Amino acid sequence: MPMFIDTSEPGSCIFCRINAGELPAAKVYEDHFVTAFMDIGQLNPGHVLVAPKHHWENIFDIPPAEAQAVMLVAQRVAHAVKAAFDCPGLMLFQANGREGEQTVMHFHMHVVPRHAGDGVGLIWPRKEPGQQLLEHYAGQVRQQLEFNEELF
Ligand SMILES: [Zn+2]
Repeated sequence: MPMFIDTSEPGSCIFCRINAGELPAAKVYEDHFVTAFMDIGQLNPGHVLVAPKHHWENIFDIPPAEAQAVMLVAQRVAHAVKAAFDCPGLMLFQANGREGEQTVMHFHMHVVPRHAGDGVGLIWPRKEPGQQLLEHYAGQVRQQLEFNEELF
């Protein structure tokens, strides 16, 4: 996983500084809410980051309308990257919190073109707890969805 971690305060993180024009970036798209630019650490040629202009830290902070705007731009960029780099696969990746592999604490989504044998990996320690425990987990999530209905 990436070694770089940006611990800057909100408003002075590298993505805020890119949005303010204080740091250079190879931009591919920009509108009122969202900026998309090439990741400086390309996993494969065509690796783009899509981020809101406002500093929201993660999926829990970003307002739904801005999350929607990011996703719509990510989809547009995905089409463009696929056409430009002729990638047979493409991965969207969005991380939250240090434990979730987030390295820049400003919400962003990676658009990563993928090719066979490209060396990009994801550790996926699959567990199969069985149907009874799955139903228990589902109940826990359903309870929170109902409890927090006004948030969604
Ligand atoms: Zn920021």
